[in-house]
Amino acid sequence: MRILVVNDDGYMSPGLTALAEVARNFGEVFVIAPDKDYSGVSSALTLDRPLQVREVGSKLFYLTGTPTDCVHIAMTAFFRNESVDLVLSGINDGANLGEDNLYSGTVAGALEGYIFGVSSIAFSLTKKGFKHLNTAVRVVRYVLECHIQSMSHASPYLLNVNIPAIPYPDLQGIQVTRLGRRAFAAPPLLLESPRGELMYWIGIAGEPKDSGPGTDFHAVQNNCVAITPLKLDRTALDKIAVFSDFFSKKPMPTL
Ligand code: MN
Repeated sequence: MRILVVNDDGYMSPGLTALAEVARNFGEVFVIAPDKDYSGVSSALTLDRPLQVREVGSKLFYLTGTPTDCVHIAMTAFFRNESVDLVLSGINDGANLGEDNLYSGTVAGALEGYIFGVSSIAFSLTKKGFKHLNTAVRVVRYVLECHIQSMSHASPYLLNVNIPAIPYPDLQGIQVTRLGRRAFAAPPLLLESPRGELMYWIGIAGEPKDSGPGTDFHAVQNNCVAITPLKLDRTALDKIAVFSDFFSKKPMPTL
């Protein structure tokens, strides 16, 4: 099994090192990660400049771009004619719950693998600082064992896994969840630049709002690993008829 490992915190992150180390027990591992922290870049693809790739270890590369760039280059250049069986992203320094997944570079790295038709899993540790990284390592190992046992032959899937940053014996198990929602983000911090301009520093994410039983928020609050299956198609199927009707009532102006 060939496994591609990526993250958004940069190639020096302890979370990436730990994820690659576990993955090596399951197959041939290639690590390609950004040269610096690209947290919060979502699925940004760099189109206005070329990207440099450096080999900094055995099958360990950094790339001067985003997590999506990393997986995209790996799939279109490195492994263009060879199969990749699994893409792993993380282990992220901090949670990716609810709509975090829209901004997350960690989830985006996995999403890019999924777009290329490969089963892909994003892993995040819910508190910053990697205090209980070993808990995440044990969860990753368990998830990979499950993949090999029963999911590797299923159609490609995309999972967002959030692991509570607590000692492993305190974990209360695993819940397969849906994404919750956050309240509005905190207001930005206002600053004055040295040149007297007003600057805005984006505030912290909102508190959990839709966080009842069944959500990813609820699972991690109750010391469970939250595993949320994600999909790519964001079409609002229930709105197609509504808007077809809406736009059919008023003809477009003739040019
Ligand atoms: Mn990150």
